[in-house]
This record gives sequence, C-alpha cells and structure tokens, in this order.
Amino acid sequence: LGRNAGEQEFHQAVREVLESLGPVVSKHPEYVDAAVIRRICEPERQIIFRVPWTDDAGAVQLNRGFRVEFNSALGPYKGGLRFHPSVYLGIVKFLGFEQVFKNSLTGMPIGGGKGGSDFDPKGRSDAEVMRFCQSFMTELHRHIGEYTDVPAGDIGVGGREIGYLFGQYKRITNRYESGVLTGKGLSWGGSLVRTEATGYGTVFFVDEILKTSGDSFDGKKVVVSGSGNVAIYAVEKVHQLGGAVVACSDSAGYVVDEDGIDLELLKDVKEVRRARISEYADARPGARYVEGGSVWDVPCDIALPCATQNEIDEPEAIALVKGGAKIVAEGANMPCTPVAVRTFADAGVVFAPGKAANAGGVATSALEMQQNASRDAWSFEHTEERLAEIMRGIHHRCLTTADDYDVPGNYVAGANIAGFIKVADAMIALGVI
Ligand code: NDP
Repeated sequence: LGRNAGEQEFHQAVREVLESLGPVVSKHPEYVDAAVIRRICEPERQIIFRVPWTDDAGAVQLNRGFRVEFNSALGPYKGGLRFHPSVYLGIVKFLGFEQVFKNSLTGMPIGGGKGGSDFDPKGRSDAEVMRFCQSFMTELHRHIGEYTDVPAGDIGVGGREIGYLFGQYKRITNRYESGVLTGKGLSWGGSLVRTEATGYGTVFFVDEILKTSGDSFDGKKVVVSGSGNVAIYAVEKVHQLGGAVVACSDSAGYVVDEDGIDLELLKDVKEVRRARISEYADARPGARYVEGGSVWDVPCDIALPCATQNEIDEPEAIALVKGGAKIVAEGANMPCTPVAVRTFADAGVVFAPGKAANAGGVATSALEMQQNASRDAWSFEHTEERLAEIMRGIHHRCLTTADDYDVPGNYVAGANIAGFIKVADAMIALGVI
C-alpha cells in the first residue's frame, strides 16, 4: 500500500482484480514463480509533466499532465486521455490498470495505458482548449507513436480535442502518422462507428446477457447516467433494439422522460450546444428535470452507468434493486463500488463489469488502427458488425472462463481471469522485463 500511497481508486481497481485470481494462482503456480502478479500491478512507465498555456485574457495557466504506460506485453500501450479537474495519478493508474485487462479481453493486439490532465474544459473557449491541447502534446509527443503508445479520448476529450492534439503531433514530428491517436475525424483518418462504439458495445453486451435467457430489449425500461459520448450512443442503440431510455443525467442533475429520451434533442443539447442536461427538459414538454439527486431513483429494468467512477454506492444500488433493476452493465469505468456490486449479487441482479461491457470503444479504436495501417476506410455496416462480433466474443469468453473456474454466470470473475491469463502468459513468454 505504501508504494502507492493515497491512490485510492488504484487500490480499489487492483483489489477487485486480485480477488478473482485465487483459483488461477492455485492452478498455475508458474504465475507466482515469475512474480507476474507483482509485475502486472507496477506500470512499466509513468510520465508526469507541466502543461503551461495562456488563456483568452492573456493570463498564464498551469495544469499537470499524465501518461501511465502500464503494460505492453500484448501490443503498444492503448487507452484514452481524460481532461477533468479530478484527475491525479491515482485515477490515471486505476484506468490504466483496468485497460490492461480490458484490452486483453477484446482479443486485439493492444497493451494498456491511460493519461490525462486536471484541466477543466468546461467554460473554456475553443481557442483556449486548442492552446491547452497544443501545450499538452508538446510534451506528450516524445512518448507516443503508432508502435509505442496510442492515446484516444475519454471524459472531456472528444473529436475536437483529438483534432488539436493530432494537429500538434503532426506539426512537431512532421509525420502524418494516423495510427498515433484514435478517435480521429472521418476526413483525417478516423473510423466510422468509433464515436458510437462504447455505448453501442455496452448495449450489445447486455443484449447477449438477455439472450442467455431467451429475452430481448423489447419493451425494457432503461436508465442511463451521464449524457456524454458513451451515454448518448447507449441511448441510441437501446432505442434501435426496442427498449426505452427513460432517464439520463449530467453532474448537476437528471431528466426523466417517460416517453423515451428524444435522441435528436439530446444530441443537440450536449453535442452541438455543449449545454447542461436541464436544457433538455426546458425544450421537451412532458420531461422533468431534477436538480442534484440520484438518477438511480428512477425505476427501471436495466441500468447503464455511463458517467464516472464510484457513482453507484450502496444507497444507489439499494434504490436500483427496489426499483426493479435486473441487469446493471458498466458503460463507464468502475462506476459501481465494491459494496454496490455485492448488493447486486445478493439481490440476484446480473452485473457486467466495465472491462467487459465497455470494451467496444477500445476494440473499435484497434479497428481504426487496422484501417490506418492498411490505408483503408470501412463502411459503417461492416465496422458495426465487427464491433458486434467482438462484443459477442467478449461475452462468450467471460461465461466460458467463469464456467472453467467454477463460478458460472459470474461476469466479474470471468472477465478478470480471462483478461489476466492472456497478459500473464505473454509476460512469461517475454521473460523478466
Ligand atoms: P464525456 O466527457 O463525453 O461524458 C461524461 C459524462 O459523465 C457527462 O455527462 C458528465 O457530466 C458526466 N460526469 C463526468 N464526471 C462526473 C462526475 N464526477 N459526477 C457526475 N457526472 C459526471 O465522457 P465519456 O462518455 O467518454 O466517458 C464516460 C465514462 O465512460 C468514463 O468513465 C470513461 O472512462 C468511460 N469510457 C469511455 C470510453 C469512450 O470511448 N469514450 C471507452 C470506455 C469507457 P458533466 O458534463 O456535468 O461533467
């Protein structure tokens, strides 16, 4: 614990994985002999840097930048950048650690990493965001590359930020190295379906869960938290599959719309106007806005937390169980605390962890890298089918691994064990490095 003092989220993420690995270690003593577990918890490299920039008033601002290159046994480090005032080393390390197992689970040749900054893009002009991104990349460029480390978006980093980051990388290196970042715009090396991929993938994963009992989304009431990239496209896919999302949120409050969230209006408020979710209710008769409070008080069959870590603790989990939720799938990274996960297990609620359920985003980033490497551009239909197939594969891997280790139906254990074994075997094959 002393080695990583104060990094609460990192401890939480490590404990969650290690709790699943008891049976694996008894079956495979070679992992202990090669100190794989100790090595896998230690990032290969951590970079912390100063990000100075000038705001519109001419004042010098200062932020801190991070990139944690966690594990490259399976491929180049891969994982997003988060711009949010809460970002510190403990958050970046928890996300990087999760990413190692998630990326392994996708079956694609990608290692795990994560980065970001405590910069808050809210209320900043485009020009300020651009200057910040340029300063951030002025340091980051020496650590990344198509074969080294390939960042993408996360909270606070979408198409606009990836554009400014890519522009600065290109300018400094004098290389049009498309594969150095993913989440790019369609006219400059991006992939169709990447924007939709995490939300769509989460819903595809839930669809697979439903199919195990002959069920479907048809007529299901769904609640989604957040209203950012993951949330919006989760809403879109739920509606396409016949369910109804009746509530979503942002950090200030939530909206309830029993007629089903109007997707075009939601996109206009959040993607075009970059406004607060309260403006959705202002524009939609029949919808109501609740300031503060918990979106998990809204009764539903299926809950998709798509905002941020630790948003569902025991009280929220109890509210969900009381409200009739039968499935909870994490679109965000670690939105459910350990006690929330235990509450779901005790109540018989099926729980799908983020490293399985939200892996569609990074998997589609790997598809973007494939297209960049072959200078190709696939159709929406083809790419979406690849995503759906990858999510079916992850679901299958979780369930068969859970069966192999005598914890049938346990998606947490299945995801952790399947993700771990592939990385551990590669680490042993590559020697003590
Ligand atoms: P966005 O920045 O697009 O959206 C984040 C949403 O969550 C916003 O509605 C935001 O509200 C809300 N939110 C953020 N922080 C908090 C907070 N502390 N309390 C309450 N609400 C909050 O991010 P993404 O949609 O990209 O990411 C959401 C989650 O999904 C994260 O956990 C991320 O790691 C995970 N994820 C994302 C992937 C991707 O491809 N984008 C891939 C895999 C996982 P507000 O605007 O008010 O801050």
